[in-house]
Amino acid sequence: MRLGEFELIRRLIKELPPPSEKVVVGVGDDTAVVKAGRGYRLLTTDALVEGSHFKRAWKETVEEFFFLLGKKLVNVCASDVASMGGEPKVGLINLGVPPDGKEVELIELYRGVGEAAMELKVDIVGGDTVKSGTLFFDMTLIGESPSYMLRSSAKPGELVGITGTAGDSRGGLELLERGRSEPKYLIERFLSPKARVREGREALKLGVKCGTDVSDGLLFNLGTIAESSKVRIEVESSLIPLSQELTETFGKEKALEFALYGGEDYELIITFPERLIKKVEEIGFKVIGEVKEGSGVFLDGRKVRTKGYDHFKEEE
Ligand code: MG
Ligand code: MG
Ligand code: MG
Repeated sequence: MRLGEFELIRRLIKELPPPSEKVVVGVGDDTAVVKAGRGYRLLTTDALVEGSHFKRAWKETVEEFFFLLGKKLVNVCASDVASMGGEPKVGLINLGVPPDGKEVELIELYRGVGEAAMELKVDIVGGDTVKSGTLFFDMTLIGESPSYMLRSSAKPGELVGITGTAGDSRGGLELLERGRSEPKYLIERFLSPKARVREGREALKLGVKCGTDVSDGLLFNLGTIAESSKVRIEVESSLIPLSQELTETFGKEKALEFALYGGEDYELIITFPERLIKKVEEIGFKVIGEVKEGSGVFLDGRKVRTKGYDHFKEEE
């Protein structure tokens, strides 16, 4: 495959009919937005595929591996809904079972799906089970919201905020690749991220208009805001929140690299007017930069590449 993930999507949607008037936001944001009564329905889907997103061998290192993976799928989808400011509601799950798939592992996976669904108050109402060469499972999730945040709503003069800490998930992945099981905190940040549903809803309630989640790397996801909002985003590396576990395990420099380019943190990024700073900090966001007129993403005053990890593109 020569095309990157996003170029491929752009090419594929050319084959689809243009959306009807009930579609408020189509392809290109964290979720689609469809008008529903007085509010909106938010639709998203995500897949976890053996080889691309996880290795079955990791079950040897991590206790409850399949359970955590099950929780991850639901939270990854819920994170997209959270990034719009919505509440996840109803989901469908497809499961691809390989010839050597073990029942106990699939049951563990669904125990994880079940626990996350309970925590997030999501009803799982169906899906499909198919034979497959590799183990995969995917989820389609529908959320609801009276209104929504978009990647394309950032305005010059606003501040940029992020929840939690960045880079932990990439750190956890690195540990798994090295066959290590400690620190458990980092591994769980990779295998079992928590969707920031509360923070997203509260930001929306405050009147925040722009949000996304950190799925592909902080700089990459800031880049999607900069590009779709046609603004410049300036961040300070010293303001990017890093966990003690990450800096102690990998050192400060590597920790920052993971925070900037590693994906799958599923933290929320918002941009908001300065007058909201106190309230935004109260609900759990930390300021890492500001929105300016112009284009691109700047780190400590220097323009940076915003490419995250794209598993579609062949290595150059
Ligand atoms: Mg997203
Ligand atoms: Mg997603
Ligand atoms: Mg995706």
